[in-house]
Amino acid sequence: MRVLGLETSCDETGVALYDSEQGLLADALFSQIDLHRGYGGVVPELASRDHLKRLLPLIRQVLDKAKTSPADLHGIAYTAGPGLVGALLVGASCGKALAMAWGIPALGVHHMEGHLLAPMLEAAPPSFPCIALLVSGGHTQLVRIDAIGRYQLLGESLDDAAGEAFDKTAKLLGLNYPGGPEIARLALRGNLGRFVFPRPMTDRPGLDMSFSGLKTFTLNTWQNCVSAGDNSEQTRCDIALAFQQAVVETLAIKCQRALQQSGLKHLLIAGGVSANAALRERLAAMLQKTGGQVFYARPEFCTDNGAMIAYAGCQRLLAGQREDLKINVRARWPLAELPALEAEHG
Ligand code: ATP
Ligand code: MG
Ligand code: FE
Repeated sequence: MRVLGLETSCDETGVALYDSEQGLLADALFSQIDLHRGYGGVVPELASRDHLKRLLPLIRQVLDKAKTSPADLHGIAYTAGPGLVGALLVGASCGKALAMAWGIPALGVHHMEGHLLAPMLEAAPPSFPCIALLVSGGHTQLVRIDAIGRYQLLGESLDDAAGEAFDKTAKLLGLNYPGGPEIARLALRGNLGRFVFPRPMTDRPGLDMSFSGLKTFTLNTWQNCVSAGDNSEQTRCDIALAFQQAVVETLAIKCQRALQQSGLKHLLIAGGVSANAALRERLAAMLQKTGGQVFYARPEFCTDNGAMIAYAGCQRLLAGQREDLKINVRARWPLAELPALEAEHG
């Protein structure tokens, strides 16, 4: 089965073609980061209009690259939520319209299921059951995956998502959006131990997390340095490293707890923050000690992309899931509301 995937939930237009036998055939992405940079965040109306402009040329590009004609397609998967409603509607209506014209089914995919399954596109994919850490710009959750579509929420951030904390912290240090890669870049030149940040909620039992305090801690640390006359690049690097360490350490402690409680040895990490090299290294080292293993997607499939939507949609279409012609998108959509997928998947 060959499925075209469309991702338009936020500020990235992603298109990809996935084949259940041959794997990923082609993918293309247009990031709107430059469009929104001057506003300090994503402007929903600008995002929708840009998706409208980019989507069809990207679809043509992907089909050409994979030497695939619409007649070779078996379905179209589009992101139906959660996300910005106007942006979602662009992908949904385009997907539905093309599917109708081409006489194939269209299916709405859950954006977070897309993120969760992105590591399945790699050469050595994880097997289920496993524990998943979903760390993105809008979500920080620990999930138990028993099968595709069977997700149990074990814990989550009670305030900011980890990616959001990276973005806000970067902003107050005067860095660009998105903040995660910027902080990671500065942290490489930081001096370990000059500042030590707290590991929020790790002294309490349970799997919930909190990241908004770290942002305040950063602000206070930076302001203290600045008022003492030190606004040097080195200090910024030292703070970036201390912040990143605190987030990584907190996530590692919570992951370890989830693995221990479940008795599982496989950990999957997904979402934009799973591209973070320090997080990957820390978790790999942690799991090596217990004979476990950590799985993640290549960096470009950690953040928003069309490949994860094509993959997730293909699995659901293969299992026989279909929907009617109504265009439904959801700004909010708990992962636990997804139907389980019982059929075999390859
Ligand atoms: P959601 O998927 O929850 O709706 P989103 O789509 O905005 O949110 P993603 O695209 O998965 O989120 O990830 C974007 C986030 O990942 C941003 O917050 C960004 O700062 C963060 N991020 C990207 N690369 C890195 C990195 N190397 N280190 C840390 N954070 C990173
Ligand atoms: Mg984005
Ligand atoms: Fe995302």
